Amino acid sequence: MNGVVYPDYYRKFKCIADRCTDSCCIGWEIDIDSESMERYKNCGGELGRRLSENIALSEDGTLSFILGENERCPFLNSRNLCDIYAELGEDALCKICADHPRFRSFFSDRTEVGLGLCCEAAAKIILSRRGIFSFENPEEPWSDSFENALLDIRREAFRIVSADGDVFENLGRLLNFSEAAQYALDNGEAVSADNIFGGELPFLKGGRLAENAVSLLGKMESISAEWDNMLAEIISGNYETAFPERVRFDINEELEQAAQYFIFRHFPEAIDDGDVLSKAYFAAFGCAVIYVMEGVYLRKNGGLSFTDRINAAKLFSKQAEYSEENMEMFFEWVWDMKGGS
Ligand code: SF4
Repeated sequence: MNGVVYPDYYRKFKCIADRCTDSCCIGWEIDIDSESMERYKNCGGELGRRLSENIALSEDGTLSFILGENERCPFLNSRNLCDIYAELGEDALCKICADHPRFRSFFSDRTEVGLGLCCEAAAKIILSRRGIFSFENPEEPWSDSFENALLDIRREAFRIVSADGDVFENLGRLLNFSEAAQYALDNGEAVSADNIFGGELPFLKGGRLAENAVSLLGKMESISAEWDNMLAEIISGNYETAFPERVRFDINEELEQAAQYFIFRHFPEAIDDGDVLSKAYFAAFGCAVIYVMEGVYLRKNGGLSFTDRINAAKLFSKQAEYSEENMEMFFEWVWDMKGGS
């Protein structure tokens, strides 16, 4: 069976285009697929001229749009709408633009499609959700035994982080469970979370980010000036973690959803590298950094709105998940921390 499966919130997504405060047409290199390139080559008139003048071969040999001032896509007009879309229609968008913010995980007999937390419309949907992660259609058993074991582990992981209580305690349990799960996966055994008790995050104590975690953030390639500013605040320890009670409750619920999103998105990467433990670490680390970033916004803005919390989640996602180099750096950090095991 070859199916495509989606999270239960997937169909709620709609790009908010000119109402987006953070267009994905700014600050990203946009690679053009060969089919779209053929179409652009044959486009006439003023748009054809602009297309021919605004596409170049990048260092890695792919064709991409030449970004303008402030790294804007040259076809993003002053109303933050796309001129290619306006003139040629949605079908003329290159694949990367039409697809964003979707991502895919490939199993032997199914493909999972999700929405990336880097997009504010998607982040709003993901963080507003409540309860345990679920798909549009109930999951069915698959033919590959490793993948089945991985999916069992992921289901347990969803259950652990969505349990009642403090999200960071649950994430600590997730790390303990994932240690056992990794062992079971390596040795072809079954694993259950039933006998996994308390846990603690090694990089978040008393609401403060550990020195080695801050130093890792400092070494990562920066994706934006916004991140540079945020990083400076984190390095200076300028974050408040004594959140007002009502906000604390919302943060807990939202980080529970963020954790499930990271688990949903990154656990399947273990199909290629067999390493589920570092993906669990990434989920916990992502939530810890978002939490600290929310503390920066609270201190800076004198309050913490839902928009601030969306901004924290999407900024972390863009900085970490959308840079291969930063993801690799994170996984190496985990392996070093685990003593290369
Ligand atoms: S970031 Fe999301 S909402 Fe904003 S323009 Fe891109 S796809 Fe649309």
